[in-house]
Parts: sequence; structure tokens; C-alpha cells
Amino acid sequence: MRLQYSIVYLCLILALSGCAVFAMRSHKAIGKDIARLLWNILPPVAGNLIILQSQNETLSAVGCYMFFIGMDCIMLTLMLFIFRYCGVAEKMKKAGYAVMTLLTADVIQYLVNPFTRHAFTLERLTLDDAPYYRFVPHIGQTLHRVLDYGILVMLLAVLIIKLARSPRIYSERYSVMLVVLIVSGLWQGYYIISRTPVDRSMIGFAAFGLMSFYFSLHYRPMRLLDRMLAGVVSDVPEAILFFDANDRCIWANKWAMELLHLREDTLDSTNTKLGELFGSLDLHESEWCAKRCALIDGEMRYFVIEMHAVSDDSKQVAGSYLDIRDNTEEQQRLRAEIYNATHDTLTDLYTREYLHQQIEEVLKESPDTRYLIGFLDVKNFKIVNDVFSNVFGDLALKQIADWLRQQMSERAVFGRLGGDTFGLMMPAEEFDRAYFESELSRFAVKIGKHEFHLLIHMGLYEILRNELTVQVMFDRAHLALTQIKDEYRTHTAFYDDALRRQVLWSQQISAELPDAIAEGQLQPYLQPIVDREGKVTGAEALARWIHPKEGFLAPGRFIPVFEKNGMIGEVDRHMWRCACEILSRWANEGCEHFISVNISPKDFYFFDVFAEITALVREYGVDPAKLRIEITETVMMNESDERMQILNAFREAGFIVEMDDFGSGYSSLNMLKDMPVDVLKLDMKFLGRSENNQRAETILRNIMHLTKDLGIDSLTEGVETEEQYRMLSDMGCILFQGYHFAKPLPVADFEEQYMQ
Ligand code: C2E
Ligand code: MG
Ligand code: MG
Repeated sequence: MRLQYSIVYLCLILALSGCAVFAMRSHKAIGKDIARLLWNILPPVAGNLIILQSQNETLSAVGCYMFFIGMDCIMLTLMLFIFRYCGVAEKMKKAGYAVMTLLTADVIQYLVNPFTRHAFTLERLTLDDAPYYRFVPHIGQTLHRVLDYGILVMLLAVLIIKLARSPRIYSERYSVMLVVLIVSGLWQGYYIISRTPVDRSMIGFAAFGLMSFYFSLHYRPMRLLDRMLAGVVSDVPEAILFFDANDRCIWANKWAMELLHLREDTLDSTNTKLGELFGSLDLHESEWCAKRCALIDGEMRYFVIEMHAVSDDSKQVAGSYLDIRDNTEEQQRLRAEIYNATHDTLTDLYTREYLHQQIEEVLKESPDTRYLIGFLDVKNFKIVNDVFSNVFGDLALKQIADWLRQQMSERAVFGRLGGDTFGLMMPAEEFDRAYFESELSRFAVKIGKHEFHLLIHMGLYEILRNELTVQVMFDRAHLALTQIKDEYRTHTAFYDDALRRQVLWSQQISAELPDAIAEGQLQPYLQPIVDREGKVTGAEALARWIHPKEGFLAPGRFIPVFEKNGMIGEVDRHMWRCACEILSRWANEGCEHFISVNISPKDFYFFDVFAEITALVREYGVDPAKLRIEITETVMMNESDERMQILNAFREAGFIVEMDDFGSGYSSLNMLKDMPVDVLKLDMKFLGRSENNQRAETILRNIMHLTKDLGIDSLTEGVETEEQYRMLSDMGCILFQGYHFAKPLPVADFEEQYMQ
């Protein structure tokens, strides 16, 4: 008997120690409390084991002290554990301190028992034919029992109250603990009352400790979990359906029931209902995701449907669940976002980027169709905005957009490229030039009964090679607009081979210019200027490009290109330097001739023309009066006050300023009176070629008079015949230039022929 119980106690010691170690490692807050309880159950169990095994009185007494004092420790840790388990540690703080004080007093009374013997003494019995010492309780022991049972009753009360107040779902958690504690208490009581020689009461407490370990650390109330999960799943705003391994629906949440019009008793019809709503869904397949739309109450709604497998512990598919999420709002928001990002807010047309993208796609889809790219531009839209207000401007743009919508077929794509420009791509066969000419010429913005004509031009490019980027295609269509000369009569223009060659040419010579200047390919030719006696007095420096591959290039081939891209300044500065160089050489050789140089109106935008020229004159020590400055009337078109100041500065510095090509542009006779120029240069070509032209003659004569009255010298260029020369001389013209005297010549030839 002693041996059997000793084995039982030993096993309990091992189990309790193992569980205590596990509990200590637990991450749960209660883990520490449970570990403390388990460690504290060990000494009384060990005490019982000692009592069982000892055959002498002292050792049995030690076992008894371990048992009784250990019981006090158990009660303390049990109390702390139960308080924590029930979540009342804070509330029961005071009771806890009182119990602790009483237990301490109880321990002290045991510690004095060896001297007072008021708690217990030992009596000798014979058990299994060997001496066995059993304790005999006295008053101290009774007090100990009253205290321990008092604590036990208090803890039972805490558990009962907790059980009563908690939701039923938690009852399992508390009732199990309550039952185990009552059984342990009764078990203990039984041994106290029966006074069997071997006290087995600790088996009850040890069992309680082990169950506490299990319930507090490892047990998860499945019913609670079930309810919680079902609650959560019922409330998620998604339809969720559970299927067993045979694809039979076993549960559906509230949303699923509503969506599929199901009831608890009609769950079997789930699969049919799913098919009716979403078309066929593969319910046998366990993991998939699909996007479907369905008509619900007359409204199209979008869904994301996901099927997931549920596996058991052995990784076998035990069932599956279907999650149906309504993402209509998300879809609509996404569509709105995409629409906003791809459509212009004012006109609702495609944005530039999106139009490019659409064009690329269409070209990819139908590579064999011939398409035209169109670039629409509203002439002087800035003025329209300024004069009629932005509101009118916006309305105009909207009406252009509407016009485009009317004109374009479904095969065309079009959009707004920017401020007042629109782009389109249409099949070439749908483009009727005469029709578009007439449409564009009639285009008017309508406000109520009023109509305001807008001048719109369309540049066109036929896509011949798909490898070009859409941007380049639009650039070409845009470039075609430069072909339109009479902008009120012509509204459409094609990018053609000539334009293409022109573009290539511009690119080529622009790239070559710096080297051409450095290598002396760009040279001044000198055209003599003669006086009334036919004596050469000077020359105009005219640029020539002796191109290594292209040969001799007249300025008409390159000057307009550089005027356009702003590189003209490079040419001019080079020419001015060459002129200064020649003049300085002539001065040294005693030649009195002057040289006129051309100044492009563009030069004034890019650098300080006055500073540049005066610096050159200074550098070469040239007399400013010998370097004549030719400007054209267009110089005065913008910032005329500032330009006038510059011209005055030139004159004050001793330069002679000539007005080139008078009569070719915007000049008015009125402007002449304010113009700070010394020489008026008239070009015969602007007055017509015929010598018999009476009107031209009259104009010439009057201009001659006018210049005389204003104190300005006159120079006629383009003089080709003796008659012209004589006539102009008679009219009072002072200087002459033209093929009649000589063509522009290389510097060396000029020097050879005209230097005295
Ligand atoms: P421009 O300054 O009016 O120069 C006179 C143009 O008339 C020159 O043409 C000249 O060769 C031409 N010419 C002279 N006499 C006659 C004639 O009897 N009959 C005809 N039909 N033409 C005559 P070019 O050299 O081709 O220059 C054309 C234009 O190019 C110049 O007109 C000038 O505006 C510009 N240009 C020439 N060199 C330069 C330059 O270095 N810088 C700038 N900015 N422009 C230049
Ligand atoms: Mg000139
Ligand atoms: Mg001229």
C-alpha cells in the first residue's frame, strides 16, 4: 500500500513539475500564476510522500510540516490564481491582503508547534508491517483547517458569482473549475473526517492543479469559438457559404441568404441559385477567384467570388467556403477615376496622353488601314479669350469638341491635345478635303442667336510608317499648318514630301552650322554699291555657304531655317566679324569703301546687338561709319520704343543705319517720320518688274522726294537695267545696288575689281 501510493505521488510530482515548466514558458499572463500554483502543490505532495515512506518520527514530522505549511502556500497561490482566472484581482485586493496575513499567522503557529505542540502531535501505528507515524490534530490544526476551508469557500463563492454573471457561453470555463475545486475540497474533507491512516487528500489538489493548467492554458472552449466565428462571419458584409466535402451547402450567412433568396430549409438549392445568378461556377474546384456581374433588382452589380478549401488536420479537404464580395462601389470609383484621368474636364474628350495611347492601340489592331492624323488649331485663340472672356473661350472649345463628335465616325479617335489644339486620327477614306474645307470655313461659335466665326486650321499627316511615335505624327500634322499661306481661304494642309525634306534639311544644316562657321564654309560675298556717277563706294555683305557636300548655298536655303530656330545669331555674328576683318584690312590699305551688314530681327531677342557690334568694331579698330547696319521694318513691329533706342544708340556711336527692303512689310509712311535711320533701302522687286509701270514710278518718285525732305539718303537695290539706273538717278536716288552693276562676289574678286 505504501509503495503503490508512493508511486502515485511520485507520478504526480513529475506531472506537476512538467506542467509547471510549461506554464512558466507560456506567453499568457495567467501562465505565471498557474506555474506558481503548481510549484506550491509540490511540497505538500512531497510531504505526503515522506510521511508514507518514513519509519521514524522526526522524518514524519518534517513531512507533516511540509504538508501543512505547504497547504497554506497552496491556498495563497490558489487564491491568486482564481482571482486572475476570474479577472477580479483588482477588486479583491483587500480580501487578498487579509487572507495573506491570516496564512502568515498560520505558518507562524506551525513554526512554534515543535515547542508548544498545540497544532498536532504524532502517533505511532503499524502499516504494511512497518512503523508509520500519523498526525493527531489539536486546536492549532483545527484553526488551520477552518482557515483553509474558509479560503476555499471564498474562492468557490467568487467562481459561483462569476459563473452567474458571465454570458452562458463562458459557463463551461467557470463551471469546470468550480466542480474540480468542490471535488478537491470534498476529497480533502473525506480524509480529514475518515482519518484513514494514509492521507490521500493531496491527490485531489494535484488533480485540481493539473486541470487548472489544462483549462487555463490549453483549453479553448469550442462552443465559444464556434459562436464567435459564426457571429463574425454573419456580420461581415459579404456573402459566405460553407460546403461539405460533397459540395452541399451546409451553412450560409445572412448576406448570402438575402443575395440568393435562401432559407435554412432551402440550402440544398444553393448551387442552382448560384448558377442562375452568376452563370456556371466550378464548385468542385477548391481554390479559385472570379469576377462576375449580376443584375440585382434591375441594377448591374459587380462581384468578386472566391472559393477556399478547408482542410482537416491530416491535410485532407473537408469542405470549402465561398466568399462573394460586392465591389460595385469600388468598380464605379475605379471607373470614375480612370475616366477622369483619361478625359479632359472641359470638353469630355480624351486627354493628350490617352489619345496617344488609343491611337497606338488602334494602329496595332488594324495595321492595314490607311489613317490620317489631324492637328486642329484655333487661330488667335488667346485674343479670343482676351476679347470675349475665358467663359466664351471655354464655350468655344466645347463647341469645337461637339463639332468633332459630329464629324468623326466610330472608327476615328480624337481628343484635346492642349489649350486650343485638338488631335484626331481617322481612316483616310473617310476624309473628304472639300467637305472639311467648307465645314471649317463656316465654323462659328453659337451663343443664343449670335454667331462668332472662329478661324480653325487642320494640319494632316497620312500615316505611312507605323514605327513613328504618335507624338512625331502629330508634330508632322502640326508642321503642315505652316504650309497654309492664305489662312482665311485655306483651312487644311497636308504634311508632304517637300515638307518632310524641309524638316530633314533644317535638322541637317542646324547640326552642321557650328562646324561650318569654324571651318570657314560660311563666307561673306560682297555686292558693290555704286553712287550716281557709277563709282563703287561700298558693298553689302551677303552670306554664302560653300557646303562640302551640297555645294554653293544661297542664303535662301539656310537663312529662313535659322531665323525660325533662332540660330541666325550665329550666322550674323560671324558675318559681322568677317566684315570688320575686311574693313580693318581695307583701312590699312587706304580703301574708303563701307560694308553693309544684315541684322535679323530675331537677333534682338537673343542678345545685345549694340554691345556685340560695338565690341567688334573696337576689337578690329574699325571706323563705325564704315560698318553700315541693315535692319528691316519688322524689327519695329515689337517693342518699337526699345528698338528705336537701340538704333539711336548706333547712330550716336557713328554707325549708319539703313532700312532694308522698305515697302516689303508692314511699314507705313507715317512710321518713317519716327524711324531713326540714315538710309532707306528700296528693293525694285517690291515695286514690280515692269519699267512701264506708271504707278510704281510714281511711288518711287514720291518716296525719293520724301526721303530728301526727311534728310534720309535713298538706296535702290535690285537695279537690273541701265534704264532703271537712269530713271532712279533722275528721281534723285543717291546709291544703287543690283545685277546691273555686279552680282555678289567673293571677297577676293571684289577686291581685285573694285579697290583702287
Ligand atoms: P537683302 O539684304 O535684301 O539682300 C539683297 C538680296 O538681293 C541678295 O540676295 C542679293 O543677291 C539680291 N540681289 C542683288 N541685286 C539683285 C538684282 O539686280 N536682282 C535680283 N533679283 N536680286 C538681286 P541674297 O544674297 O540671296 O540674300 C537674300 C537675303 O538673305 C538678303 O536680302 C538678306 O535679307 C538675307 N541675308 C543674306 N545674308 C545675310 C546675313 O548675313 N544675315 C542675315 N540676317 N540675313 C542675310
Ligand atoms: Mg540686305
Ligand atoms: Mg534688301
